[in-house]
Amino acid sequence: MGLSTDAIHAGQKPEPITGAVMTPVFQTSTYAQDGIGEHRGYEYARTQNPTREALEGCVAALEGASHGVAFGSGTAAIHAILQTLNGGDEIICTSNVYGGTYRLFEMVLRRFGQRFHFVDTSDLAAVERALSEKTKLLFVETPTNPVLTLSDIKACAELAHGKGAKLVVDNTFMSPYFQNPLALGADVCVHSTTKYLNGHSDMVGGIVLTNDDDLFASLKFLQNAAGAVPGPWDCWLALRGVKTLAVRMRQHDANARQIAAWLAERKEVKKIYYPGLASHPGHALAKRQMRGFGGMISFDLGSFAAAQKVVKAVQIFTLAESLGGVESLISHPAMMTHGTVPKEIREELGITDGLVRISVGIEDVEDLQNDLEKALDSI
Ligand SMILES: *Cc1c(COP(=O)(O)O)cnc(C)c1O
Repeated sequence: MGLSTDAIHAGQKPEPITGAVMTPVFQTSTYAQDGIGEHRGYEYARTQNPTREALEGCVAALEGASHGVAFGSGTAAIHAILQTLNGGDEIICTSNVYGGTYRLFEMVLRRFGQRFHFVDTSDLAAVERALSEKTKLLFVETPTNPVLTLSDIKACAELAHGKGAKLVVDNTFMSPYFQNPLALGADVCVHSTTKYLNGHSDMVGGIVLTNDDDLFASLKFLQNAAGAVPGPWDCWLALRGVKTLAVRMRQHDANARQIAAWLAERKEVKKIYYPGLASHPGHALAKRQMRGFGGMISFDLGSFAAAQKVVKAVQIFTLAESLGGVESLISHPAMMTHGTVPKEIREELGITDGLVRISVGIEDVEDLQNDLEKALDSI
């Protein structure tokens, strides 16, 4: 089946008692059992929930995975992957990874003895140098936030496998509509469903996808044993959101392409980051491993004062963290999402005080452009 069909049907069948076409919200903590040791596959809702299973089956199909395991947040999903490893294990991770991933690795898991090396994974020679026989996991985020650096998934998979390590790719920014890491050789794909998969900014969740049966068994065990499960209502919201993934992603991409091309010509914009622009260092790779460029754009206005003016002047774009919803958002990474990263490191990564990030929504593109035009004129 094509992705648009799977987004609507995979993992879902009419509910057997009433024939309800849409998967119900199974808002229950427990299930009646027919006799001692006799149940219908459902015992307790941390362990099994039909609404959650429908979401897992649906997103697994979109990523070409045989298994999906859902969690209460993208961060919990990433945590579960790391919980399949042991203390003392070594992990190599993209250097400008999502801030919450960095915090989880450095401020939580390091205390339990896992060792992390942060490397610019867009540089394959650097990845090769960092990998050793002790490496258990290569964790890649592509494109990254907020400067949209791309890493070559296929090449990273080959390098990791050469050392007996597994490759995990955080595919949140592209969604399965534009990029499928497992098809490019990754062993595990992870999403914050909070973003494009749900797409309506009304829940928080995460999901892990894999074709590796042993890893699936470990993740399934951890979903129950560590217990970071999503509630059925949030699973239902994500499941409903996923149905329109294809049409939403096409519009996010079309709007962002037009806005990026227009922003690139504006004198107020000193530097722009969008993989769809030929000026982007990852443009050729983007065309190779992605089917579109997505809805995220970052641009440097040269100073904090200019950034401050723009975020205050916009009226359709809302100043807020997060991304991937139908509504357009604007943020200031240096003070918002990357506030805890030391200034020297921020500057090195391109996260200057003048950098502004937009999550281009699916409103009328003319309205979005007019909104940004008025804001740039206010500088
Ligand atoms: C938001 C995000 C996460 C974390 O997901 P939560 O659902 O907020 O826990 C991880 N990776 C990326 C790329 C994200 O954008």
